[in-house]
Amino acid sequence: MRIEGNRLVGEGVKHLKTPNTSGKIKQIKFGIVHDDEGASMAGTESWIMNPSSKVSYHVLIGKKGEVTQFVDFDKRAWHAGVSSWKGLNNINDYGIGLSMQNRNKEPYTEAQIAKAIEVAKVINDHYKLEEWTGHKNISPNRKSDPHNGFPWERFREGLKDSSESKVLYVTADTLNVRSGAGTVHDVVTRVNKGDKLHQLSPIKDGWVEVLVCESNVKGFVSATYVK
Ligand SMILES: [Zn+2]
Repeated sequence: MRIEGNRLVGEGVKHLKTPNTSGKIKQIKFGIVHDDEGASMAGTESWIMNPSSKVSYHVLIGKKGEVTQFVDFDKRAWHAGVSSWKGLNNINDYGIGLSMQNRNKEPYTEAQIAKAIEVAKVINDHYKLEEWTGHKNISPNRKSDPHNGFPWERFREGLKDSSESKVLYVTADTLNVRSGAGTVHDVVTRVNKGDKLHQLSPIKDGWVEVLVCESNVKGFVSATYVK
């Protein structure tokens, strides 16, 4: 996936042109994450295409990892409303709106999280954003999205340039990735021989923190079984 002419380009990216946009963003500084509170991807798409809703996001991410862009990234989408962040008001003038398709604080799907990170990284690399934050932080008295299930730590880790970390490969047939450094910690996922990991920390007491490249899952593995 890449950005050309302020639009996402890549397999599976859908473009719809909403009337709910006005003028240009003054300066692209922030990425704002939302929940759409819609019942379905199609429902939210038609809501955003409806001029009477007066709502739009730049990008909507579906539960299966669908990606729909409604507004070019250099144009103002109508997602933030009354808002302020870092001494600035009306964050529609400064922010790219990325919404998760999510209603009533249901859990995000793995495909959706992975795609949101992928899209946000492409945006981040292209526009060099200062920061990503949630709608609830820029409109604290009005909004509570995205809900607390949004994996901010993993999201921010995923935005980092992978070349900043060292790549490791799994040498065991299968290897547990755990939530902490030691076998007492829960297994969060398993990886197989030859799988690629990004090293996130120095090796300490035989354990190393890694990000699994394929799934973007973060955890700890025994350093004996990677090189
Ligand atoms: Zn919102």
